[in-house]
Amino acid sequence: MQKYKYVILGAGPSGLAFANRLLDSHETDFLVIEKADTPGGLCRSKEVDGAPLDIGGGHFLDVKRRKVLDFLFRFMPKEEWNIYERDSRIAIGDDIINSPIEANIWQLPIVEQVKYLKTIAIAGCNLGTAMPEKFVEWIYWKLGNRIADEYMIPYNKKIFGSDLDSLGTYWLNKLPNVSFDETLMSCLERKAYGSQPAHAQFYYPKRYGYGELWNRMAVKLDKHIIYNQQVHAIDINERVINDNIKAEYIINTIPWMEFKTIHGATSSILSAINSLKYSSVVIHYHTEDMKSNAQWIYYPDEALAHHRVLVRSNFCPDSRGYWTETNLDRYREDEAGNGFCYVNTYAYPLNTVDKPAKMMSLLSELKKRSVYGLGRWGEWQHYNSDVVVELAINLADRLVNKNLTQ
Ligand SMILES: Cc1cc2nc3c(=O)[nH]c(=O)nc-3n(C[C@H](O)[C@H](O)[C@H](O)COP(=O)(O)OP(=O)(O)OC[C@H]3O[C@@H](n4cnc5c(N)ncnc54)[C@H](O)[C@@H]3O)c2cc1C
Repeated sequence: MQKYKYVILGAGPSGLAFANRLLDSHETDFLVIEKADTPGGLCRSKEVDGAPLDIGGGHFLDVKRRKVLDFLFRFMPKEEWNIYERDSRIAIGDDIINSPIEANIWQLPIVEQVKYLKTIAIAGCNLGTAMPEKFVEWIYWKLGNRIADEYMIPYNKKIFGSDLDSLGTYWLNKLPNVSFDETLMSCLERKAYGSQPAHAQFYYPKRYGYGELWNRMAVKLDKHIIYNQQVHAIDINERVINDNIKAEYIINTIPWMEFKTIHGATSSILSAINSLKYSSVVIHYHTEDMKSNAQWIYYPDEALAHHRVLVRSNFCPDSRGYWTETNLDRYREDEAGNGFCYVNTYAYPLNTVDKPAKMMSLLSELKKRSVYGLGRWGEWQHYNSDVVVELAINLADRLVNKNLTQ
């Protein structure tokens, strides 16, 4: 039996940031176990057609907290990144307008603007009617029928699957109410209104793909990381992985259903894990250049399999072509052609109605046994990479300090 103080499952951004933070505290008694042959998880890149391609989908660095940015720039200094102003668009019918839709309805033909305005004026949230509980009704209530029918409902179906009512609404509360007055003013003045969406400005490496940042973090871990090792079993009471690696603390960043055997699991732990759902995304590269200045374009049209196109040459210097992102359930190889293709089995954790309660119970039961869930899969949240880095730093600091004070 090999023994370590910390065993970290998964070498994506969460696991890499946690392990590097341990090194910052001069803690070297740890091991990171990764099933792939390279680090970075969803943030990995690969050379395709002479330039980097982000195989987990389009990834851009937009960090809200200074301490996280400082931490990341230690591995890849600011000079190695370009800064871009976000230019993302939505293909609505025959038109391509800027995103977010509610701020840019003025870019549509006038007849269309009127249709949108009429339904925004009578959206439930603007009339003060009670907030519905179900996802689909909630979208109509929040954004009005036209934005719901033309964009939000088809787009969400394409990315998360057709059973939208199995999703909760708790994760959408951040969406602003679409104001009739402001939308009308924006259409009359022919300019956008409201706050900018996430990634209004973002960083992308000058010479590499996004994966380079995480490669560099992994290099620092040296012999403390092992690749090509699939975690399949855990004993949560004894804290043993794959029957031969024992830990004082287990930090889990891999999807919970990857444990085919869980010794010591209670019925509520099993019920929580069995309730978790996810969607998978296929990345497909096309060599042709797209005539657009946008970095990415959303496609709600259900007749097309993909939901997003990433125009690589608009953010990755000296590159050409574009790639599509398609939910695996919708992916049709005949449509895709024969370019490079990569399947991300675990892409989006689904925000199902019962998820918050199930995850709270799972994480609290396991924490009592010094098994911690961390990151996109460990916590089953749509976290971006900067957010998981912050969570990893905070958890590592808490555990190291706890040991110091014991
Ligand atoms: C399409 C898309 C676009 C995104 N865009 C952005 C963006 O623009 N900016 C941004 O900041 N974030 C973005 N994200 C989110 C970002 O990918 C995540 O925040 C980040 O990858 C989470 O890191 P993680 O380590 O928690 O999980 P992951 O990156 O998924 O890493 C998990 C690791 O666990 C390993 N693993 C899995 N199973 C096992 C097993 N059985 N044994 C051992 N190892 C295992 C995996 O191989 C992987 O390396 C995007 C995500 C998607 C899907």
